[in-house]
Amino acid sequence: MADFADEAQDAMEHAAYLASLVRKQTPSLPVGECLECGDVTPGSFCCPDCRDGYELRQKMRRINGQG
Ligand SMILES: [Zn+2]
Repeated sequence: MADFADEAQDAMEHAAYLASLVRKQTPSLPVGECLECGDVTPGSFCCPDCRDGYELRQKMRRINGQG
């Protein structure tokens, strides 16, 4: 029984460690600038058109194998 408890403890510590890594790698939002045109905005995009254009370019990049 003690072994099982130790394993559960290790698994929980490992999960917390992974969660901390994810938090570090996630950029903090909002960014304050439109990712598409660079205009000042409280979010990541100043308007739906910019968001659509940005997402379209991300898709095209994936299709072209550039990231
Ligand atoms: Zn924009």
